[in-house]
Amino acid sequence: MSIKLFKRSFHIYHYKDNYFALDRKGSGLYSLSKEAYETILHNKSEADIKEIIREQCNNILQTIQMLKDQPPNTSKDQFILNGLWLGVAHCCNLNCSYCFAKKDNYLSDNNLKMDFNIAKNAIDFLIKHKGSNKNLNITFFGGEPLLNFDLIIEVLNYSEKIEKETGAKFSFSLTTNGTLLDKKKYDLIKDKVEIMISIDGTKEIHDQNRKFKNGYPSWDLIMSNLHSLKDYINRLAVRATISDDSLNLVNIYKNLKEMGFKYIFFTETVPNTSDNKCIENFNIELLGVVPA
Ligand code: SF4
Repeated sequence: MSIKLFKRSFHIYHYKDNYFALDRKGSGLYSLSKEAYETILHNKSEADIKEIIREQCNNILQTIQMLKDQPPNTSKDQFILNGLWLGVAHCCNLNCSYCFAKKDNYLSDNNLKMDFNIAKNAIDFLIKHKGSNKNLNITFFGGEPLLNFDLIIEVLNYSEKIEKETGAKFSFSLTTNGTLLDKKKYDLIKDKVEIMISIDGTKEIHDQNRKFKNGYPSWDLIMSNLHSLKDYINRLAVRATISDDSLNLVNIYKNLKEMGFKYIFFTETVPNTSDNKCIENFNIELLGVVPA
């Protein structure tokens, strides 16, 4: 695979120990590690880049291990918060092959959903511990959060009341599998909530991994929902989950782009193996979709 470096379209600079890339076309500003900064600046070879990625993967894994061995000793009263993740539905209508939530009974069989009191207490806790933060984010997460749509509406209404009382400003995001996102629901939340849909790029890959509980594939239903939202596709974000067996990011990226998505994200499945080969392959493949 060829790796394109993108020095031409980015302006690379640093201020003290902070390193940045300014995207001259899209006006985006990205924070870089020192290694990434030097890699781009000196136009290093593909072998060098792979080595840097390998080292960074090792560093991340070591840091995670260190935090597991020695968790920080901080009491909850010392935290300053700027957001919340609300797990509003610990249940799902899909049964994806790589589902992160299958472990530890996270997804229960008894249709477990958050009730409003818990959500309200969580928002009150956020307000109490926000310090001087004015802008606060709430993410609706699951399972499949749209299985608890009424609660989402209640949270939006309650947050509006809190905004008026406190001067805080809420933003909202939601990650959904897209099977329940019809036009009616979308219209009720579109002005307040940033929505990310999980689609694995192509029908073939998607239907292989993302099936309903009865084994029926989910691609066609999601496409039919998206058809009713076709005027808004460029406002939606999409996330493709990549496993080591389905690594073809360029193809997946092109397909999602052709569907009209503007904001495209990749995430990887948790590798089954104890080595980090999967993470390395993913990151190296990712360089293929960096604009030249
Ligand atoms: S949609 Fe998400 S929560 Fe539901 S089974 Fe798939 S990965 Fe798990």
